[in-house]
Amino acid sequence: MEILRTVAELRAWSRTQRNAGRTVGLVPTMGALHAGHASLIRAAANGCDAVAVSVFVNPTQFGPNEDFARYPRTFDADCALAEGEGAEVVFAPSVEDLYPGGAAAFVEVEGLSSRLDGASRPGHFRGVATVVAKLLIAAEPDRAYFGQKDAAQVAVLRRMATDLLLPVEIVVCPIVREGDGLALSSRNIYLSAEERAWALVLSRAVRLVESLVAGGERRGDVLLEAARGLFAGVPEVRVDYIELADWGTLLPVEVAGPGTLFAVAAWVGATRLIDNFIIGPQVLAQEERDIEGYSRQPQTGDESRRWESEAAWPA
Ligand code: AMP
Repeated sequence: MEILRTVAELRAWSRTQRNAGRTVGLVPTMGALHAGHASLIRAAANGCDAVAVSVFVNPTQFGPNEDFARYPRTFDADCALAEGEGAEVVFAPSVEDLYPGGAAAFVEVEGLSSRLDGASRPGHFRGVATVVAKLLIAAEPDRAYFGQKDAAQVAVLRRMATDLLLPVEIVVCPIVREGDGLALSSRNIYLSAEERAWALVLSRAVRLVESLVAGGERRGDVLLEAARGLFAGVPEVRVDYIELADWGTLLPVEVAGPGTLFAVAAWVGATRLIDNFIIGPQVLAQEERDIEGYSRQPQTGDESRRWESEAAWPA
């Protein structure tokens, strides 16, 4: 597996692949790779002929008091994991490579960027949309892979790709969890043993709401109240938000239905964690309802969700 450091190298590699008739998949990450990232790389390797994993801790998506400086950096292990899952290259640029001359041009997805995580992390989604746009323009992939773990981020990026006419298929992969339910996150290593136990309230809330919905409950206030009740039992965890929103617009919804996102964010000590659940065919199968943008292909065991653009990168 090759390590590419510059945009020019990445673009040359991608064009070589596509000129040889191979499809290209991109998996953007900030490194500190775990089984959640591995599932994305595996999905990319299964769905594309050649896979690039980017490893870049993007400064523009961190607030001034956030953890940019101490974000875990485990580059050698990341390369080993990426190679093991079938990546052909790791793209690991410097800040200067991706932001030559600093950062004056940004991608702002209005509205969506200030909802959910965007409300509590001002500027965060602007940084995310900007760096992902740069990575897509540099790598020109046929498909880019993201985790449902960051569901609001997916909504922002999907809208960004649509509005900017970026010719890429966005593939969203299911949340990978520890055996006890905790969603995998590079930030879990910040948790003490005690905090790790408290943190389970997030996935318990997700499971509770999921089971209530499966049982037929659709009233938003009832679902949110049930989740809040669980958090009330763990006062050490400080809720940032508990919301039901439309997964496309991130606007609040009062009655849950297909495509409704139940999302939580909470502080466990100094660590902010997120988790979510999206009402989809696995819950609503009995209702035989279609969800816009959701491709049903359960026969492959592939639970990913896809949005496809008609356009193509230049030859
Ligand atoms: P990050 O390195 O945290 O920026 O994450 C890179 C990608 O991995 C994002 O698309 C995340 O949504 C995805 N990801 C992170 N954690 C998980 C997880 N537990 N399950 C699935 N995907 C994940």
